[in-house]
Amino acid sequence: MTISERLWHKHYPPEISTTMEYEKRPLHEFLEESAALYGEKKALYFMGKELTYREVNKQTRLLASYLQEIGLTKGDRVAIMLPNTPQSVIAYYAVLMAGGVVVQTNPLYMERELEYQVKDSGAKMIICLDAFYPKAVYVKGRTSLHHIIVTGIKDYLPFPKNKIYPFIQRKSAKVLVKAEQSTDTHLWNRILETSSGQVTPVDIDPEEDLALLQYTGGTTGFPKGVMLTHYNLVVNTQMSLNWLYKSEKGQETVLAILPFFHVYGMTSVMNLSIMMSSRIILMPKFEAEDVLKVIEKQRPTLFPGAPTIYIALLNHPRLKKYDLSSIEACLSGSAPLPVEVQERFEEITGGKLVEGYGLTETSPVTHSNFIWGRRVSGSIGVPWPDTDAKIIKLEENEEADIGSIGEIAVKGPQVMKGYWNKPEETAQVLSEDGWFRTGDMGYMNEEGYFFIVDRKKDMIIAGGYNIYPREVEEVLYEHEAVQEAVVVGVPDPYRGETVKAFIVKKQGSGITEDELNEYCRKKMAAYKVPRIYEFRDDLPKTAVGKILRRSLVEEEKRKLEDS
Ligand code: AMP
Repeated sequence: MTISERLWHKHYPPEISTTMEYEKRPLHEFLEESAALYGEKKALYFMGKELTYREVNKQTRLLASYLQEIGLTKGDRVAIMLPNTPQSVIAYYAVLMAGGVVVQTNPLYMERELEYQVKDSGAKMIICLDAFYPKAVYVKGRTSLHHIIVTGIKDYLPFPKNKIYPFIQRKSAKVLVKAEQSTDTHLWNRILETSSGQVTPVDIDPEEDLALLQYTGGTTGFPKGVMLTHYNLVVNTQMSLNWLYKSEKGQETVLAILPFFHVYGMTSVMNLSIMMSSRIILMPKFEAEDVLKVIEKQRPTLFPGAPTIYIALLNHPRLKKYDLSSIEACLSGSAPLPVEVQERFEEITGGKLVEGYGLTETSPVTHSNFIWGRRVSGSIGVPWPDTDAKIIKLEENEEADIGSIGEIAVKGPQVMKGYWNKPEETAQVLSEDGWFRTGDMGYMNEEGYFFIVDRKKDMIIAGGYNIYPREVEEVLYEHEAVQEAVVVGVPDPYRGETVKAFIVKKQGSGITEDELNEYCRKKMAAYKVPRIYEFRDDLPKTAVGKILRRSLVEEEKRKLEDS
């Protein structure tokens, strides 16, 4: 038994089970179930248009049978390149229903990145938005891709709403005319008109068969395909339902700003909502004021997000103008949630905002604070039901004591099968007895709550001292003039590395480097205080709003090489 296992159970409120029976069913069956139980209930809201569960399920069946007709067989990989739209939900469940494996790609990918992922996964088909059609055509000529299914925003939004739409529609019409002339391209609206909807049942073993090949965020190393089974995803979604015990089936409205092409948005927003028969408010891109408006009008009750999203909303000059009181619960993941942000957001909405933690490799959630129970500020919380966690001492490879920093390892039914075609990389992180090493450094306190201090690779060593950027960033975030902060190690001839802070100031702030430095000197040991400050208008981020620390590190290295 791990040290953690003896501690964390104690904090569970009686409404949350520490162990559960998870359903061994394919993931798409939950959509069919919601359609059977709540057919006329609104499932998707997209820029003013609504689709019911019956309609979503029907269109999913039409697409699934079409995929089978054009040759999809069990286990075939299908790439999806879509922002949050009705198509992104329908395409995802249709691939699963037809027996395929979803390969999510980021719509911001350039041709080279898409080609890598299609080649690595061996995807045969891609479902994409018309704007990305040229990229798909380019990749098709160089990979195993046979079929392109193309759809436009206009497939769901018949009327132009503003000046931009006629332009998009003209552009989209041109793409679609070109697409129509190609025999291997299939148009979404035509599929829905002509497909039989007769899906040949596929025998799925939920524990063995893959639902998803999910390429990791790319914040470390080269992207690898994480193999997640139907069971991995069902389990993690059911764990979330257990955690959200006050939420009611058929009653919630969920704000979907996290992209579904990232595992966090996929599980904690899409799969969760479908399993709960919720109404999903689809937002294809983040614009703070649009989000505030949508919250006021559509009144979501649940709002999973990332710190950068909550920070941007809190710093919006017209924040106070909007009524955000519908929000009941928010789970923040992907990056550390500054305590100050948590408190202010709760004050303004009246809802709960708690920090959780997870990775692509774990479907993703493994830890979180209790929404309606004990929570510890600055902590990622306790392990989820049926999930065990421990801290490993790096040198000895043994479990560390309470309070000692080491690598966080987790074990549970949400842990991936491994990396696609990469047995050596899999063996480096996943032991034979199921322990997955996260690459994150942290510790556990005497109550069994976990804290992240940083990623293994992000630790800065300056003049022989170990510095954890998280700690320095937390201090910077506490300063009233700082909107965003990230701290990295940059090469230094004398100290090996030195600490550099990138800062985005709050609007209207005129803080100087010297003032910030003086503040830091008062708050932490001298060796941790940044020696260099750089003010920027914004910082590079992943699709879910996590600051890309590594890209700043690489930038610094390049600067040094060029000098
Ligand atoms: P991804 O695979 O893209 O979901 O990234 C997973 C990584 O995000 C983890 O290994 C952590 O480094 C980071 N992460 C997730 N949640 C948190 C959190 N609450 N605090 C700090 N880092 C986090």
